[in-house]
Amino acid sequence: MRIMKLRHAIIAATLLASTLFAALPMNPAPPVRTQTGQDIVWVTASGKKYHRQDCRYAKTATPITRAEAEAKGLTPCKVCKP
Ligand SMILES: [Zn+2]
Repeated sequence: MRIMKLRHAIIAATLLASTLFAALPMNPAPPVRTQTGQDIVWVTASGKKYHRQDCRYAKTATPITRAEAEAKGLTPCKVCKP
């Protein structure tokens, strides 16, 4: 009987863990827009791509508008898909 109780405890803990995971915000931040409705993207000093703010490649990036980034010949990052 002890083993049955242990199994139930493990199942209960697993259910609790998956519930907590489901409650975590998994959606990326919504795109930032200027007051004129232009998309803001993040570019690094040497990069050839532009990023979303939450991209792992955008840690040292500065924000510019998407139009400016495209004018510079930058292309969207394949990781964060800005
Ligand atoms: Zn990126």
